[in-house]
Amino acid sequence: MKHFDDILSYCEKAAFDLNFTLAKNWKKEKQDRVLVGYLPIYVPREIIHAANGLPVGIMGAGDRKQIIKGDAYYQSYICHLPRGIIEMALDTNLNDFDGFLFPAICDCIRNLSGMFKLSRKGKFQRYFDYPQNFDPAIGGAFYSQEMEKVMDDIYRINGIKVTNEKLNYAIKLYNRNRKLIEEIYRIRQEFPWRLSAVETYHILRAGITMPVEEHNEILSQVVEAISEERGEPMDNIRVVVTGSFCEQPPIGLIKSIEMAGCYIVDDDFMQGSRWILGDIQDDTNEPLKALTDAYINQSTFASAYYDVGNPKGKRLVELVRSRNGDGVIFCAASFCDPALLDRPMMQKECDEAGIPHINFQFHENTGQFKVIKEQAGTFSDSIKLWV
Ligand code: SF4
Repeated sequence: MKHFDDILSYCEKAAFDLNFTLAKNWKKEKQDRVLVGYLPIYVPREIIHAANGLPVGIMGAGDRKQIIKGDAYYQSYICHLPRGIIEMALDTNLNDFDGFLFPAICDCIRNLSGMFKLSRKGKFQRYFDYPQNFDPAIGGAFYSQEMEKVMDDIYRINGIKVTNEKLNYAIKLYNRNRKLIEEIYRIRQEFPWRLSAVETYHILRAGITMPVEEHNEILSQVVEAISEERGEPMDNIRVVVTGSFCEQPPIGLIKSIEMAGCYIVDDDFMQGSRWILGDIQDDTNEPLKALTDAYINQSTFASAYYDVGNPKGKRLVELVRSRNGDGVIFCAASFCDPALLDRPMMQKECDEAGIPHINFQFHENTGQFKVIKEQAGTFSDSIKLWV
């Protein structure tokens, strides 16, 4: 096993490498390999892996790139993520990518897919839609067709046909990936001081920039390392952070919440990597159906998911209870319609369940955290003193 500090710095570097060096190097090794960039939140990465592709998560430029062209493309009253991504596309950051997937979340992402089409970035640019009808014969069939279109896009580039065997193998790898991530969250739930939220974030974000096989190796080493004592327990409250599923908060913000006396015992920062709850069937003659069934029956709660019959407010409360949380921090990107429209309903559920909460908004390139730290610190103190 590598030294744990080396693993952490490797992940930090990979997570914020806006040139995606690991992915581009992987592609150079064989001619039929393709890189498929996907935006937040979730895509079934298994279908790309099975077609000799590397799915690469594009989470925005964060606070690591000056945005000039991106601001010219967009009006001021939308979130920051699409500006950073268009800036990266117009510069050289996304060169060598073969295709891009734009999961249906909101109008910003939809319009961004159109901009990529117009600027002919990559060999395909696909708006990837999800079912809102969960009848397997209707929404399920639709979702399978959406996945087939992506496999056809890749086939046209590298001539690789996806077989059941390859798809089952990819499903197995991503099952392992999610299981290891959940194990890290389980250990942190009990011993949050062993791995900070910032370190956890780096480890997860690094995973969307490299082959899943390599990430699984890293995750196993992390699980091994934090199964033993590390760090010192502090007198912190335990919070669940929600609302940051798409545009990612700057690292300084996550650090500020922790420094203000809060252990982040669960969050939705890298939600796409944790989307499916539990394993997907990996030894079947119908692996596409297995992926479809998993989307319909095992998706986590999220603003991007149509959840009639299983409201996300109730699921948030269940999550807080299961993590033994003291409160919720609603932390959404400014102008993020999906998160901000859901927030009042979720706050109401928290109120009814007696769970304290606060909220603030951010931009991925926010640079001032003093106010946020004071707010989170006051929240922490008030819970310690009066709840
Ligand atoms: S941050 Fe919110 S509004 Fe912006 S692209 Fe993502 S989901 Fe859409």
